[in-house]
Amino acid sequence: MGFKSAVMTGLARDGGLLLPAEIPYVASRLPAWQRLSFHDLAFEIMRLFVDIPDNDLRAIIERSYSSFRHPDVTPVRCVDGLHVLELFHGPTLAFKDVALQFLGNVFEHILNETNQDLNILAATSGDTGSAAICGLRGREHVRVFVMHPHGRVSPIQERQMTTVLDDNVFNIAVDGTFDDCQRIMKTLFGDLAFKDRYALGTVNSINWARVLAQIVYYFFAAFRVMRLTGARRIQFSVPTGNFGDIFAGYIACRMGLPIRRLVLATNENDILSRFFNTGDYRQRPVQATISPSMDIQVASNFERYLYYRTGEDEAVLRDLMNQFATGGSLTVKPLTHGGIDDLIVAGTGGTADTLATIREFHEQYGYLLDPHSAVGVHVGRKYLTPEEPMIALATAHPAKFGQAIQDATGQDLAHHPILEALMDLPTRCTVLPATEQAIRTHLERCIPL
Ligand SMILES: *Cc1c(COP(=O)(O)O)cnc(C)c1O
Repeated sequence: MGFKSAVMTGLARDGGLLLPAEIPYVASRLPAWQRLSFHDLAFEIMRLFVDIPDNDLRAIIERSYSSFRHPDVTPVRCVDGLHVLELFHGPTLAFKDVALQFLGNVFEHILNETNQDLNILAATSGDTGSAAICGLRGREHVRVFVMHPHGRVSPIQERQMTTVLDDNVFNIAVDGTFDDCQRIMKTLFGDLAFKDRYALGTVNSINWARVLAQIVYYFFAAFRVMRLTGARRIQFSVPTGNFGDIFAGYIACRMGLPIRRLVLATNENDILSRFFNTGDYRQRPVQATISPSMDIQVASNFERYLYYRTGEDEAVLRDLMNQFATGGSLTVKPLTHGGIDDLIVAGTGGTADTLATIREFHEQYGYLLDPHSAVGVHVGRKYLTPEEPMIALATAHPAKFGQAIQDATGQDLAHHPILEALMDLPTRCTVLPATEQAIRTHLERCIPL
């Protein structure tokens, strides 16, 4: 299966996730790539994985990242001893734009070639919905239906979605919870006849194109920081939920980028941090926190990592995933020296740590971290070394989480003109009951066959 089929398929037929058959090893090319612009670097990396002609790929990259407000796309800021990789300069001010802008353009490219239509159905508790809508708005051959729980996303997040009035964007406020939205999605996708008839697709974080787009900024930031500091190896700290972002870093390392350590940071929903400290991956109930995009207990991309961790043996992996599906837990044996992974270390930042980190960075350095980024910084700082600079991924603009900033600093500091402008715009949204039948009927009405 090529890249384009993988993008359109999402999940493999047996319910597993897709990975490239081979990961290219590029260590010998790193010197030549050091000074490339973000766009040129994205081109060099992505062309190793995709079956899209060079000229088309260049155009896709150009279109995807012209929507970012910084010439470096993902700039690196030095704050005290830390290098903050700002991933939030895209249209919705969160790191998901990096992948979803690219995915939207890839979808359009493929659908133009095949002259097919695709109807994306997504459920969101906040950030993903607006990034998906922004990546797909106004595109030919694609409609995007986004369900959010009515009245249960933040007012800013709601406005980021419902103020998009393009004809191909359908916002649905479901009278229920996020779990209801997810349940409805699962049921509709489980009805294969319905799914095929209405050409339903997804943009969730398991789509390989999303991981691919995220690999680029690991290289970009590493080159910047190695040039700036003269270091030969670097470390990254990554605020983690579904393991998509950090998995891109893991692939970058396998490609030959000299990463000394990936620091995985979770909030109170710490299934991954527990795993990397004990080898035991065990599900617990989800807790609501001030970093809501990391409130996840089953990390959808973790299976990809496990494949490599268990020796690239599909049978072993299938066994482990079955154990997890039936018993809610799985266990991996420690390495000979007792650790779980030589590359990945993990820790947790709770609410108090998060607020303290935001406050300290504001008071000492005049720099505002959003609560997700603050979790990453909190855990990452435990691993600072003189030889290996730490790059902390900043995944959202603080203005998206103004309440947390207020709670941390006591001041109303976090604003962004893009978000402020939303308050005066007209909105469009359909409110529907939280039943599969209501959503099904709505899709049938909106999708011409
Ligand atoms: C989605 C998200 C994350 C978590 O990324 P994963 O790829 O799910 O690990 C962290 N921070 C923000 C702001 C996000 O939107």
